[in-house]
This record gives sequence, C-alpha cells and structure tokens, in this order.
Amino acid sequence: MSQPVIGSFVHAYLICSRKVWLMSHQICPDESHELLRIGRLVQDQAYAREHKEVRIEHLALDLVCRAGKNFVVAEVKKSSRALEAAKMQLAFYLYELKHMGIHAEGELLFPEEKRRESVVLTLELEEKVEAIKQEILQVTSQPLPPPPVRNRYCNKCAYAEFCWA
Ligand code: SF4
Repeated sequence: MSQPVIGSFVHAYLICSRKVWLMSHQICPDESHELLRIGRLVQDQAYAREHKEVRIEHLALDLVCRAGKNFVVAEVKKSSRALEAAKMQLAFYLYELKHMGIHAEGELLFPEEKRRESVVLTLELEEKVEAIKQEILQVTSQPLPPPPVRNRYCNKCAYAEFCWA
C-alpha cells in the first residue's frame, strides 16, 4: 500500500496501531458513534465564523490564518485527553508544510475546555515526526491489522464494536 501518511493517521497511530491500520484500509468506523458526531460538531461550530479548512496536497488543515508574515495552522480537538497525539498531528502538518517551503506555527485549540496550546516545530519534533511516519508506513503496509490490545481509549473509540463485539 503506497497511501501517503496523513495527519489523522499520525493521531490514530499514537493512540493505537490497529486503529491506524483500519483507517488506512478504509474500514469505516461506526459513523453513528456519539463521539464522532460530537467531534464533528465541535469542529464545525466552535470556530464557524473564522473556520477555513484548507487542503494542500494530502493535508487537511482545520484553520489557517496569518499572523504578520507567518502562517498559523490550528488543529481543533474535542478534548485534550490525547494531547500528545494531537500535538504530533499538528507537528506533522508543520513538518510537511516546511518541506513544501511553507513556514508556519501551530496552535492546538480545545474550544470546550477554552484552552489553546502553541506548537513550534523544533529539531527534536521533526525527528519524532520522521520516525513516526516510518513506523506508520510499516504498520499500514502489513496485510493484516495488529491484534486489538485494550487501552484507555478503547471505550471511546468508534472501532470498539469492530474490535470487541
Ligand atoms: S477499540 Fe481499542 S483496539 Fe480497537 S482500534 Fe480502537 S483503540 Fe484500537
């Protein structure tokens, strides 16, 4: 499978390697799952007035705005429960943009928690992004998904029925 790594894969991989395999093989989660619906609502409504999803090649960016000479790319999340995964997803966007010649800063937005966090692409983060991209390609190129392993995200995961029913 030669599908490029996308931001949602980075987020999913840092939660569960099985989840990223399922997503990359277009196995749809339960679309009626409560948290999927809530997540979409938060994304659609929280920043409705300034919301401008931008697609650049394989990247789907929640919000892009200008701050002086720089761009700020924001990623909107329902909660900060998976903070590290959200941070790496945003770092991935900044990394990919940098390789397209676009320098940007990042902001993680958690509207329900009235919280925001800045993300700056350091050398250390770039190395992490590179390593995670390789690991994701390793997982997604396998013919079968990794077996389910219970983790703290399972009870809120839209694939839960698929894994545990
Ligand atoms: S239910 Fe658990 S094991 Fe299955 S994909 Fe979701 S997080 Fe992974």
